[in-house]
Formats: sequence, structure tokens, C-alpha cells
Amino acid sequence: MPLVTLNEILPKARQNKRAVAAFNVANLETLLGVFKAAEQESSPVIIQVYQRLFKDERAELIAAMAARLAGKTDIPIVLHLDHGTSIEQLKRAIEIGYTSVMIDGSQLSLNENIDLTAGAVDIAHRTGVSIEAEIGHVPFGDGKVELSTPEEAVKFAGQTGVDALAISIGTAHGFYKEEPYLDIERAMEIGKSVSIPLVLHGGTGVPEEQLKKAIECGVAKINIATELQNLFIRGIASELEKNGEKFIPVDLYFRPVEEKITEYARAKIRVCGIK
Ligand SMILES: [Zn+2]
Repeated sequence: MPLVTLNEILPKARQNKRAVAAFNVANLETLLGVFKAAEQESSPVIIQVYQRLFKDERAELIAAMAARLAGKTDIPIVLHLDHGTSIEQLKRAIEIGYTSVMIDGSQLSLNENIDLTAGAVDIAHRTGVSIEAEIGHVPFGDGKVELSTPEEAVKFAGQTGVDALAISIGTAHGFYKEEPYLDIERAMEIGKSVSIPLVLHGGTGVPEEQLKKAIECGVAKINIATELQNLFIRGIASELEKNGEKFIPVDLYFRPVEEKITEYARAKIRVCGIK
């Protein structure tokens, strides 16, 4: 089927206290690995591409591959721009076939974030694309955590009309130095105050039990980037070590790595679906 938007899968997932895994892909092998996981689990999946890849033709080429793969299956697949930086970037994503976008105004004040997001929502909805935005701030690197509040969530959701809301409840982007501790009580209060699907960024390394609790609170999209991409890199390193000087064509070299990606993504999909 054609690529779908978040609205075809997330509200239903939230209602059923499930989440859909969103994986950041960056090349053919990570894309194929994730796609095969979705097929094998018969589960919808969100394929997302980080904003940096929109700076050249990569995001466009991945979109063409994702659309072709989605067309071969009955499993709903969303193609999503992750951490969109500007209205121009959103427009480009929509033009090249993305069915969903994120506008990230989480570094701005709440009112500025609302203004930016409301404009972005208008553009997305006019073109039939779904849109995610973020309140509070899930840090990158050593950046500062700013936890989201229920009051912000109500105001933001009401004034922007956004389809999915990323909240900051203690996660961070990248690997954790210590095991993360999610503020589940906060997530529960936010979940009670807004009915739209919530999004958890920084899903890498969050213990399964905490993810499940977050899903109970209304988190319906869980972003996984670092761990999946790291698995790809380490997978190549271990193939190199195994094969030494022996020449193996690139497609064959990557195949076992792609299989590892599939296995990993399947496990994450099962946690999200609470199977
Ligand atoms: Zn993120």
C-alpha cells in the first residue's frame, strides 16, 4: 500500500495501549533491515530520517526506496522527517514524498514554539501529511534536560493542532552514561491531560519495563536511533575482523549486518506492542 501518515496508526495504538517503533535509517541496509522486521512481525513501523540527511540527496533517495518497499506490502509504513529544523525543510520533505514530519521548536520559548508549530501544522495538514512537535527538551549530548509539564501539553496541543506530541520525561538522545529514569508520574499526568499520541525520543537504552510504563501513559511512538545505527557500525567491524583480508562484495558483506538490524528491530517492535 502507499505510505501512510501517523494518523492512520498512532491514535489506534494509543487507544490500545501500544506503541509503534520509529527507527532512524540512513542507508539501504538499515532501511531494508527495519522493513523486513516490520514484515516478519506483521507490525506497522515508522521509518524516519534525521534532518541532516536532507542537506543533500540522501533523504530523497531513501524516500524512493521506502515508497517502493511500502508498495509491496499491506503493512502500514510511515516515512517521517525527524527533527525538522525549518518550514523550508518541511516543505522539501513533503515534496519528496515524506508522509509525516517533525518540526523541532523545543529550543524556543513555549510561545515561540507554538507559533512555529502552528504554521508548520497548517502546511502539513493542507498537504495531507501528519506532524509531530516537541515540548520541553530532550537533550543531545550534554545539553540541558527540560521536562515537559501537563499545562504546557494542554496549551501546546490546543493551540497548534499537532498530531503527535514529543514530551521530555527524562530521556536523552544518544547512549546513556547511567541507566535513565523516566518520570512516569509526569508522563501519566500529561497523558491524562491530552488525548493525542505522545512520543518518546531517546528510546535507546531505556529499560523495557520503563518503556512499557510510558506506553501505558499514552506514549504511542518510540524513537530508536543510536542503538540501531551503532549496531550497524559494530556489525561491519565484526565482519571485518572475521573476514580479514578476504575480498567480499559489498552487498554480501552487509547482508549479515542487515540481518542483525532485522533481529534487533523485531525485538523492539515486540516491546512496543507489549507482546
Ligand atoms: Zn529525537
